[in-house]
Amino acid sequence: MACYDSLEKIKAEITKCMKCGNCQAVCPIYKEVMRETGVARGKIQIAKDLLEGRLEHTEKLQEIFNLCLTCKACAANCPSGVRPDKIILATRAAIVRKRGLPLVKRQIFGLMSKPRRFRMGIGMASKLQALGLKKIKDKDLARPRFPIGLDMKRIVRPLAGRPLLSQIPEVSKVPKSRARVAFFTGCMLNYIYTQAGRAVIEVLNANGVDVVTPREQHCCGIPVLVNGDVKTAKEIAKYNLDVFARGNYDAIITHCGSCIGAWVHHYHELLADEPRYGALAKELSAKAFDVSQYLVDKLGMREPLAKLNYTVTYHDPCHMVRGVGISQQPRKVIRNISGVTLKEMKKPDRCCGSAGSFSLSYYELSGKIRDKKVTDILSVNPDIVLTSCGACRMQLEEGLYRAGSDIPVRHVVEVLAEAYAKEGGVTSERKTG
Ligand code: SF4
Ligand code: SF4
Repeated sequence: MACYDSLEKIKAEITKCMKCGNCQAVCPIYKEVMRETGVARGKIQIAKDLLEGRLEHTEKLQEIFNLCLTCKACAANCPSGVRPDKIILATRAAIVRKRGLPLVKRQIFGLMSKPRRFRMGIGMASKLQALGLKKIKDKDLARPRFPIGLDMKRIVRPLAGRPLLSQIPEVSKVPKSRARVAFFTGCMLNYIYTQAGRAVIEVLNANGVDVVTPREQHCCGIPVLVNGDVKTAKEIAKYNLDVFARGNYDAIITHCGSCIGAWVHHYHELLADEPRYGALAKELSAKAFDVSQYLVDKLGMREPLAKLNYTVTYHDPCHMVRGVGISQQPRKVIRNISGVTLKEMKKPDRCCGSAGSFSLSYYELSGKIRDKKVTDILSVNPDIVLTSCGACRMQLEEGLYRAGSDIPVRHVVEVLAEAYAKEGGVTSERKTG
């Protein structure tokens, strides 16, 4: 039984905490709220009291545990090796088991448990979004016209007119391919940043890889899991495992920290007790790679022949850098593009404050955390901010817009795709030279 099914399962982790308070120094939430309940140490004590029957599963407790970005900064800096992020998720799940989910989340996650209905729902939302969102002049951004579940001050990227899955062929083949991979698009690339999704396919093709993008795939399920809805998270995990087990792929390619975390860690953690799915999740986790990781570690990426002329900075998504330990590969991709200079900000791995649905529920707090990141970015003054996560991208786009900046935010592979796209003429130039 996994820790998401029983708080008892995380007891050893809870008792490992020696209450040193080192996590205070790195917790973005604590820095803003300055309350012990905001930081890992305080939450771990509450989890202990809950486990030992000294506290009830109240709404107040639910709120305290919601106040976490799951950024894993505490886990990365804990001298005792405690995993507060897991304790917090396990406690959220325990509270949801007792109290249930708030109505809105129940409705949304109910829809997510039915992939076909979910796709139809998003399709309808993309057609009707102009009613609820007002486009910002000369920008790819919009703001709510009236409360539609978003804070009225919120700036968002609207849904794409057509999802990525309906823009691209299911199979993108190249002559004499070196490998055949499956592309897991996740929601952000499928429904919002479709250009980044096309770039993933283009860079893989440019490195001699056939790409299959299964049509039936669904959300990775992490937004559901982090909100404590373990039942739906398991359903989604099984669904995706079935879809990706159908083909014989050399690898499963993802492009964001949450998606890679789902495939590498969460699916087999969730399903460890189920013989068939537990084994399948383990088998497929060994085949899952972030696109930068696959390009650098597996393919030995081909350096583009064309030159670009950009100074960029890179924002490490929390779930990518601390969740799966990927930070060097996106930087290697960037450094392999001739003419692109990577200028690091002071704290590239500090959370941007998005944390998926956290920014929906705690808009003001999320904004304060985001603005610190934006200040760091502006001090570098890059031509482009690069990242590897759609949710971070949307958060940074809003922050930069609010700061009056025109600096665009893009996925790392978009710049690489641009360099490959440009290289035809340069190739012959270099050949003759
Ligand atoms: S979680 Fe780790 S860093 Fe935080 S108080 Fe406990 S032992 Fe110290
Ligand atoms: S995961 Fe991040 S936000 Fe949550 S307690 Fe740890 S440091 Fe704070």
